Amino acid sequence: MTRALVTGGAGFLGRNLSERLQADGYEVVALDNLSSASPLGVPDGVEFIEGDVIEPPEIAGRFTHIYHFASPASPPRYLTDPIGTMRTGAEGTRHMLEWAERDDAVFTFASTSEIYGDPLEHPQQESYFGNVDITSPRACYDEAKRYAEALVHAFHRSGRHTRTRIVRVFNTYGPGMSPDDGRVVSNFLVQAIKGEPMTIQGDGTQTRSFCYVDDLIEGIIRLSRSEVALPVNLGNPNEITMLELADRVAEIAGDPGKVFTDLPQSDPKIRRPDISRAVELLDWKPVVELADGLVETHQYFKQVLAG
Ligand code: UDP
Repeated sequence: MTRALVTGGAGFLGRNLSERLQADGYEVVALDNLSSASPLGVPDGVEFIEGDVIEPPEIAGRFTHIYHFASPASPPRYLTDPIGTMRTGAEGTRHMLEWAERDDAVFTFASTSEIYGDPLEHPQQESYFGNVDITSPRACYDEAKRYAEALVHAFHRSGRHTRTRIVRVFNTYGPGMSPDDGRVVSNFLVQAIKGEPMTIQGDGTQTRSFCYVDDLIEGIIRLSRSEVALPVNLGNPNEITMLELADRVAEIAGDPGKVFTDLPQSDPKIRRPDISRAVELLDWKPVVELADGLVETHQYFKQVLAG
């Protein structure tokens, strides 16, 4: 019997992961404090427990797998709760590691490309140490995830719990996102649907590389089933500027025009994953083209907004 606990199981990635695990025959329990829940909710058949990883509730029975995905994840969300974000990364991750140790469960941790900060190496390999300004507002998220990764390594290296996996998630989009999440793909699509100008932060020349959620989930599943304890980048190396992204959204959803706003402090100028490790060790690479993923996500947001 495989039984998985997904922390953050009501959020964008957690609910997509829960759905996939359930389809694969797992019994799934989602633990979430509902601070940034997906409009789709927890999938039918997944047991939902409201609670916070900072002070986790008791849940009866043993888990064979723990997927620790609970955390505010979009910049507007973590910037409004910096201390809670740090406590989730630090205290929450320790609690979940101890839980995995007790149950001897495979522990898969959702880390992030943000641990590379505003990168000086491009594309980013897992060996890159990163460039995070500890005094910047974003540091609450970046450093919480860096600490949490280091904690996973410490459990692994000390032998306390060696069945650990670390995925460094790069920008991901798709059905299940919240319209008010504040990330760029959801913002542009929702703005286009509402006929409001797309908000370009800065001059729009900064880059990101967007991965469709189904591709990411496939990579997470492969990683958790592997024996790979090293951190693994999962993302789509197809890099574009925010101006190009706005043009792609306009082609699909109609062009509502653009408005330029201030660039947030310490916003990374470039980001693209080097996925050679995932290709080599997991035989994984993303297959969904941005144009196709945006069409799916546009349809999804139209349904959510029609309510
Ligand atoms: N961005 C933008 N308009 C928006 C939201 C974000 O131009 O309405 C930019 C943001 O400045 C960043 C990029 O899009 O350079 C990606 O932002 P997002 O919040 O999606 O994710 P991040 O990679 O920064 O965590």
